[in-house]
Amino acid sequence: MAFRRSTILIAATAALTASVIVVSTAVVSTAILGSAGTVAPASSDSGAENLGDPDYGVCRGPDPRCYHDWGNFDPATDGYRVLVYSRTAGPRHAHLGPALPAGLNPPLTPAHAAQNALIRLGAEHNFAVDWTEDVTQLSTPSRLFRYNAVIFMSTTRDTLDDPAQTSLRQYIRGGGGFVGIHNAFGTEYNWEWYEGLLGGANYYDHGRNQPGTVVVDSRRDVSTADLPQRWDFTDEWYNLVPFPSDVRILASVDESTLPSGPTGGSGHPGHGRNHPVSWCQYYDGGRSWVTTLGHAVEAWTDAPLTGDEYFVAHVLGGVESAMGRSQFCQ
Ligand SMILES: [Zn+2]
Repeated sequence: MAFRRSTILIAATAALTASVIVVSTAVVSTAILGSAGTVAPASSDSGAENLGDPDYGVCRGPDPRCYHDWGNFDPATDGYRVLVYSRTAGPRHAHLGPALPAGLNPPLTPAHAAQNALIRLGAEHNFAVDWTEDVTQLSTPSRLFRYNAVIFMSTTRDTLDDPAQTSLRQYIRGGGGFVGIHNAFGTEYNWEWYEGLLGGANYYDHGRNQPGTVVVDSRRDVSTADLPQRWDFTDEWYNLVPFPSDVRILASVDESTLPSGPTGGSGHPGHGRNHPVSWCQYYDGGRSWVTTLGHAVEAWTDAPLTGDEYFVAHVLGGVESAMGRSQFCQ
């Protein structure tokens, strides 16, 4: 993995904070935000269609009026800090290495590829990184408010207990940042609020792990600004049900470039000409940046993988903007 420094990521947080207008969630509904900017349609224009546009009963979308600027973060004093959460309650990706013992920041080995990569990103870009697979580390909102963003790194299934669910919701409602990577989809499948946090979308199935071409849909965002319009990568290209709604689509995969096609063997026909892989939204007071990409171990290590420098830059921009250090979801 090649790490790139991006000068545009160093943005003034004051400008962002000043631009935020706090309104009641009762005033701004998703219905009136649904037409703002580049938002996902309720269905694709070929392949699978009519994949749902659920109502999560919260303010969400690319409009910053959904953000709660309640003064819970003071980066000028505290700096920036993120928590990487990778507890798996089901299948475990190779990029996570062996399950970690309890506590905060337990010892890592080189096998913990994704955690190591995120820690290295933080060291190179001046934000602190804590990591854990201990659900009790998420059990109170006050613990989470120490972090400018929480990164769900290929968590799976029921990774949170009831106190952690409540805590995550309170954290997001208090203006917290969420970054969901790869198997953060397919996590907490039956918790609707979390599905909304993912963009009103969730994992259905995936095709083969195979090369494909990522198409950048919006280059105004810090997570895509430095990327080529099209770049090659290798991933599983998750198929989604529901289909993301009321979000800003940042990048998609060109299904015509997938040698084995998008079909995953569970009956999903793929999304045709409209297959998002990354998007962002304000959600229930907080910020959420998510990507379905990141399957390959090589994407997180120095082992060569075509396009991994773009993938890492993409993730870095997602973290920076979810933390509120760069403008979010442009
Ligand atoms: Zn995977």
